[in-house]
Amino acid sequence: MHYPEPIAKLIDSFMKLPGIGPKTAARLAFYVIDMEEDDVLEFGRALVNAKRQLIYCSECLNITDRDPCFICNDSTRDRSTICVVQEPRDVIAMEKMKDYRGLYHVLHGVISPVDGIGPEDIKVAELIKRLENEEIQEVIIATNPTIEGEATAMYLSRLIKPAGVKTTRIAHGLPMGGDLEYADEVTLSKAMEGRREL
Ligand SMILES: [Zn+2]
Repeated sequence: MHYPEPIAKLIDSFMKLPGIGPKTAARLAFYVIDMEEDDVLEFGRALVNAKRQLIYCSECLNITDRDPCFICNDSTRDRSTICVVQEPRDVIAMEKMKDYRGLYHVLHGVISPVDGIGPEDIKVAELIKRLENEEIQEVIIATNPTIEGEATAMYLSRLIKPAGVKTTRIAHGLPMGGDLEYADEVTLSKAMEGRREL
């Protein structure tokens, strides 16, 4: 396709986003061209500002526009519990649930020897420092139920437990509305492990 260069560049930019192929990118690019100029400028500014104005919270390492973030700064939260998650978007997922009132720690990844990612490549040292400096009674490990997430959880529990801090792992199992026969082995085995008395 011979698009004028500015359009070709716009299409290339859209294709850098996840889940956007050439067709969708072209559709979005032509949509943008038809938008009001003010709306396009605002869109561009929003992209740049989101990138420039967001920082990591110096306490929990969640993304924020102020430090400490609004969660760490909230005096009504339980400061004796830390929920460890992989990514900032996991904090948003947990917050949507509204049941959890403790603090967070964002690892920004998981340990994955295959990809050459070790504990020093994610925010483990920062977590240990918090455990030393704050009065933490429980660490809830909420990494994803993947091989890497499980390995990271095991690694963290071995590191944290000797310090006398209660270390728990969120239960993983079958999704609501799921069907036993379609669950894979890891999911089923985790569901068994996470069973509780009725
Ligand atoms: Zn924070």
